[in-house]
Amino acid sequence: EAKRQRDAVPQLFRPELEQEREARLSLERELRHAIDNGELRLHLQPQVNADRHVIGAEALVRWQHPVRGFVSPGEFIPLAEESGLILPLGSWVLQEGCRLLGEWRHRSEFSDLKLSLNVSVRQFQQPDFVDQVLSAFYRHAVAPGRLTLELTESLLLKDPEGTIEKMSLLRRIGVSFALDDFGTGYSSMVYLKALPLDTLKIDIAFVRDLSRDTQSTPIAAAIVALAQSLELGVIAEGVETEMQRDLLAGLGCHQYQGYLFGRPVPVEEFQPTLVAQSEAPPAA
Ligand code: C2E
Ligand code: MG
Ligand code: MG
Ligand code: MG
Repeated sequence: EAKRQRDAVPQLFRPELEQEREARLSLERELRHAIDNGELRLHLQPQVNADRHVIGAEALVRWQHPVRGFVSPGEFIPLAEESGLILPLGSWVLQEGCRLLGEWRHRSEFSDLKLSLNVSVRQFQQPDFVDQVLSAFYRHAVAPGRLTLELTESLLLKDPEGTIEKMSLLRRIGVSFALDDFGTGYSSMVYLKALPLDTLKIDIAFVRDLSRDTQSTPIAAAIVALAQSLELGVIAEGVETEMQRDLLAGLGCHQYQGYLFGRPVPVEEFQPTLVAQSEAPPAA
């Protein structure tokens, strides 16, 4: 048995794997550098209500790499999570988001908007996470009611009690919580009921295939019904067509985010105004 294991070892050092490892390490080094050297940016995507009024924005981090160009968060967020870089990255996002909210106080057209920030599990589980949020509020003179934190179901697998406690603390001072990518994780209904949440975010996976004749419609319907019975708000992400919007509205979901209403854009380009109808693809 011992010999068989020894013989198996060299297989772990196949050159492709070694190259992959090298590539990851170098991306990790570069991400560390990017965080320290201001290569990260926040983009904003509008969130709208039934009247197509912009009621908020989700901040989505972007990495503008000097050589590789634009690196997608789908690529570097998982890497950041594994390497621990999500902690400095997350605190940058928190500071930058609160700085933005501080600026918006002085601009009337932004003064009613809420800002949503994505918070990863490791970031939220830091013992001083609540203090970090409070000091960002204080530094930028932000009213806590302007901030929504987007969490994912995976938090509940690790530390449900700690999660609920931190959420309750922040919520007591006015911070809102949305459960992101809802329906893709492993939420236990027991915890869902116990969580001090404000909103469920229907994952793009259920919105993408939304039409009268697919499986996604009953799932989206079930999520909306669940939100209603728990007295939570519900917002759909990834809404790209008028048909999707209409079907969601028919199910009772009246808040939307997606390319139909606006793509994520650099902060300087973000307009909190009504979305131009011309951006919509032709109705199906
Ligand atoms: P998410 O929080 O679920 O964000 C929604 C994603 O869907 C974004 O991808 C957004 O650009 C994309 N999206 C929005 N509307 C549409 C649409 O109509 N069609 C399609 N096809 N896509 C749409 P993005 O920006 O690439 O971000 C991917 C994920 O990376 C996010 O998913 C989030 O989990 C993570 N992420 C982004 N920014 C941050 C951050 O600041 N901190 C953390 N921890 N994670 C972040
Ligand atoms: Mg999100
Ligand atoms: Mg999402
Ligand atoms: Mg998603």
